[in-house]
Amino acid sequence: MSKFLGVPVKKGEIVRERVRIATYADGTPVQLPVMTIGGVKDGPTLYMQAGIHGDEMTGVEVLRRAIRHIDPATVAGTVVVVPICNPPAYLTRSREYVNEERHTDVFDVFPGAARGLLSERIAHALLSEFITNAEFSIDFHSALDGCEIVPFCYVWPNDNEHGSLAFRESQATAFGTDYVYYHDAVSKFGTSVGGGLSVDADAAGGPLMLAEMGESRRVSRQFVDIGVRGVRNVMINMGMLEGEVERNPRQRTFTKFTLAHADEGGALELAVELGDDVVEGQRLADIYDVFGDKIDEVVAPCDGFVQRLMRLGSVNTGAEIAWIGS
Ligand SMILES: [Zn+2]
Repeated sequence: MSKFLGVPVKKGEIVRERVRIATYADGTPVQLPVMTIGGVKDGPTLYMQAGIHGDEMTGVEVLRRAIRHIDPATVAGTVVVVPICNPPAYLTRSREYVNEERHTDVFDVFPGAARGLLSERIAHALLSEFITNAEFSIDFHSALDGCEIVPFCYVWPNDNEHGSLAFRESQATAFGTDYVYYHDAVSKFGTSVGGGLSVDADAAGGPLMLAEMGESRRVSRQFVDIGVRGVRNVMINMGMLEGEVERNPRQRTFTKFTLAHADEGGALELAVELGDDVVEGQRLADIYDVFGDKIDEVVAPCDGFVQRLMRLGSVNTGAEIAWIGS
């Protein structure tokens, strides 16, 4: 019998457990919620997690909805889910565990450390207990606080260093978002560092895909169905469910995104919507001062589509107003 963080897989059954992995200062256990769905037929293992960034709720909702539709009697293989995989950050709806000695983005500290910071211990547990014991993993994300992002799947890394490229491409395509992003292993991601979970997971022999959608701290309801359908499509594509993958005829790929920053601080009024196609120089947004005068116009730095938008009403100089995918 296989186990995931000690939680067994039982053929034809769903097992739900909360597994203690650490302790808060007041003695409350830090627990990972773990669910295993043991299909009646043999097949691969699909692992899914959300909430590695504790403010990203849309993936949590996608998983909540997706697992309700999965009946072990119709599954070949095993589905393992940790719907909230960074509980300390989830409690404060923040990207990171805010009371940690050093602010640590779990996504960036893989492979983690069994005896390190709590965030590093979580990373270690996710990789060693789940990701490397599954044929494929899906890690759900949303945009940073205040921003909203179109649904897309990653092929990251976009190389075949560990022999998994065609397999990962096949799942990313099958998931069915409008966009698939080919991201190389090392380049800078926006203004943050490169690398991260998907690169480390691939190196550790646990092919993984990020599925990105929606806004931080809210459930982007308009995208939840896309995520639920994506999970089903991947399960069909992996041979775990009967049926046909629902292909998305609008799907297209992109390989980079370019940031459009505000040069002045003030009130933000957007002139485009998520998914809009734009051309270089096109007006994306206006910035107004408190007296109502327009003080800045943010324009598209290149041709492409609006991949991510700032949703806050006010911004400081430097704010990322939009990401343009191309
Ligand atoms: Zn995230």
